[in-house]
This record gives sequence, structure tokens and C-alpha cells, in this order.
Amino acid sequence: MTRRTNVVIVGGGVVGLSTAMQLSTDDRYQVTVLEADHVGAGSSSRSVGIVETQYVQPFDIEVRAYGHRFISRIAENSDLQLHRNGYLRLADSAASLGEFEESVARQRQFGITGARVLDTEAVRALVPFIAMDDRAGGLLGADDFYLDGYLYANLMASHARSNGAKLIQRARLVECRWTTSGAELSTSNGAFSADLVVNAAGAWAGRVGEILHAPVELRPELHHAVTVFSRTAIAGTVPSIMDYVPGHGGEGIYLRPEGSNSFFAGLHSEVSSGTRVDPDQVSLNAAGPEFVDALAEAFLTRFPGIDDAELGHGWSGLFPMTYDSSPVVGPHPTNDAVICALGSGGNGIQLSPAIGRTVVEYLRGEAPTMAGPASPWDPKRISAIDHIDTKPEGALR
Ligand SMILES: Cc1cc2nc3c(=O)[nH]c(=O)nc-3n(C[C@H](O)[C@H](O)[C@H](O)COP(=O)(O)OP(=O)(O)OC[C@H]3O[C@@H](n4cnc5c(N)ncnc54)[C@H](O)[C@@H]3O)c2cc1C
Repeated sequence: MTRRTNVVIVGGGVVGLSTAMQLSTDDRYQVTVLEADHVGAGSSSRSVGIVETQYVQPFDIEVRAYGHRFISRIAENSDLQLHRNGYLRLADSAASLGEFEESVARQRQFGITGARVLDTEAVRALVPFIAMDDRAGGLLGADDFYLDGYLYANLMASHARSNGAKLIQRARLVECRWTTSGAELSTSNGAFSADLVVNAAGAWAGRVGEILHAPVELRPELHHAVTVFSRTAIAGTVPSIMDYVPGHGGEGIYLRPEGSNSFFAGLHSEVSSGTRVDPDQVSLNAAGPEFVDALAEAFLTRFPGIDDAELGHGWSGLFPMTYDSSPVVGPHPTNDAVICALGSGGNGIQLSPAIGRTVVEYLRGEAPTMAGPASPWDPKRISAIDHIDTKPEGALR
């Protein structure tokens, strides 16, 4: 009998678990997930959980369409509820509206048929409390949904376990020694050996990259969300709303319903702010006052029809951002026994299936179907070593 390849995945968030679930169906691999805390303890349980495909670039749509299908499939006959309220991206100009028309056609090519462009009147009819004077319309993904990131992570963990994967919680990777037969990994919960190691450590991937001798520049960026209450119940189904056009920079307010008279709201960006926090030191329990002020202003401007809105409890979480804001997925350029699965920023819930599948394809030696060499996720772009910060010892990575 041929020996199975021992793959250790560092990180039990949605990215590591999607990889574990998809890899563990293949008998040639023994899969072990090492998680420093518990399943979903990182960013995955702090997300707002939106899964959508309302992008313009074909690649952005393709990877999300895969995620949409994958999550819909695993949610069937499970306790994971997908709230199919739809997703509305607002157009900041007539030119954006033109791009949204292209998006609808491209989404169809990738099997997504529920998208359509709305003019301002149609947006107002759908969302009566919105201000559209400075917006040109929107792109509605009628089949888009939101979910609970923690439950999603646990569902994939359960699939991976039933496929034979080992999931070791409270096992923080602290050291790695490479020998001729692979990696010797020391953790807070025992020692493990691996032929190949996947770095899926989210906001901690910079640190884990150093431990694995496979450095990556990863910026853990702090983002917040708050609950917004209205005393008046909102009639009908309200889609999640995003006032941000990818590629246009800056940040925009988003809103997703949570019950009949409350919402989760935040400020979204897909561009790295260049700032970073220490993921082990930062407080994640509340949204800071500066954020609350900026959110309140953006909320009143965009949603003036909810005139009794009250901000409730807020929380924070980390976007694992790379220097160019795109994920890094595939063999590390200077240590190909380490596979990178990191940098999903504010999109890791919806991108996790495609990241996991791409890692699996690389591991099997197959040509990646979506995000292979020369794609925006190609790790070769990090081999220009000057991208990697050489900060003094003790500085934040
Ligand atoms: C406020 C907010 C809202 C968001 N909303 C959305 C959304 O609507 N849709 C969407 O798609 N995305 C959203 N995101 C982004 C999404 O949550 C992340 O991109 C995603 O969770 C990243 O998953 P991950 O598995 O890479 O990281 P994580 O979930 O952070 O998992 C990494 C894991 O690695 C573990 N780890 C760290 N160091 C070690 C070590 N040394 N050894 C072992 N394990 C280690 C950590 O404990 C952690 O559990 C949001 C994020 C935030 C903060």
C-alpha cells in the first residue's frame, strides 16, 4: 500500500476548513488541522456572513460563483440556514451601471441567473428608506444570501471529520523544523509531522509564515460592525446593501438585515489601508468611537428613511489583507512544501470554497481551474522580496 501524504493545515477558520473538507475526500491524503483556539475562533465567527457574486471582473465572479454553489450544496440537509434575501450593490455613476450590465452577462456565463440591473426608481421600490439622489441605480443578486460564519465553519469541520480528517483544537503552532523528510511541527498541544503544510492562519498568517520559514507580508486590519435598531418593523424582504463599487477605492457603508427591525452595518473596503494591528493584542469586543461616528454619518446620509435608528452593540474583527489586497493561494515561492491559503480580507466567507479548491488542486499536482499561475492569487508575486516587511524584532507583522 502506498503511504498517504501527510498534509497539516494551520488554522481552523473557514479557509483552512474548506481546504480540509475538500482535500479529505481524497484517500491519498491524511489531513490534520491545527487550530490555536477552537473552530471558527478567528475572523470567521466575526463576519457579517454575506455571500454574493455582484462583481464586475470575470475572475472575481468565477471564484464567488463557485463559493455560492459549494455553500448552497453543503447547506442542504444541514442546520446551516442560508437567508436568501438578495444583495444590492449601488452604482456610484452611470459608468458603473454600464459595468453592472456586463456583470449580469458574465454572471450568467458562470451559472448565476438571478442578477439584474435596477434603475433608481426600482431601487427605491425595493428599499423605501434609501437616498438615491447621488446614485445611478444598482446591481441586485436576487439569489445571494447571508449565513452565520461560525456555523458554516463548524459544518465544514464536521464534513472533514467524517471524511477522516483530524482536527486538533487548542494546538497553536509555535515552531517548525524542516528535515529531509518534511516538517516537524511543535504546538501547544503536541508534536506533528507533515509532508506539506498549508498556511491558513488568517490574520496570523504573517507570524505562521515566519514560523514555517515561508514569509508572507500579511496585514491584520481592524474592522468593525454594529447592530442598528429601528422601533418600526421594516416591511417586506430587504436585501443586504453595499454602497461600494469594487476597484473604486475608499470605503462604503453596508447593511444586512438581522431580524425584522434590526440590521448589522459596517464600512467596507477592499483596499488595504496600510495599517495593521497585532492580532493577539487588539481588543475585539467593541467598535471604536471614531468608527461609530463615521458609520452614523454614513447611515443617516444613505438611509434617511429609518429616522428612529439607534446604534446598538458593536464588535470588531480582523481582515487578513495582503499588500495588494488579493489573496495569496498556492505554493510559497521560496518553500514549495508550504501552500499559502491566506489574505482573503473582507471576503473570506464567500471566497473560502474557491481558495480551498485551488489549494487542493495544487496539492494534487493538477492545473488549478480558477486561480492558478498568473491569476490574481498567484503566490509568485510575493517572491519580490522587497514586498516583505523587514521590521525590527518585536515589531508587528
Ligand atoms: C466585521 C467583519 C465582517 C465581515 N463580513 C464578511 C462578509 O460579509 N462576507 C465575507 O465573505 N467575509 C466577511 N468578512 C471576512 C471574513 O470573516 C474573513 O475573510 C475570513 O473569516 C478569513 O478566514 P480565515 O480562515 O482565513 O481566517 P480565520 O477565521 O481568522 O482563521 C484562522 C485561524 O488560524 C488560527 N491560528 C492562528 N495562529 C495559529 C497558530 N500559530 N497555530 C494554529 N492556529 C492558528 C486562528 O485561531 C484562527 O482560528 C468579515 C470580516 C469582519 C472582521
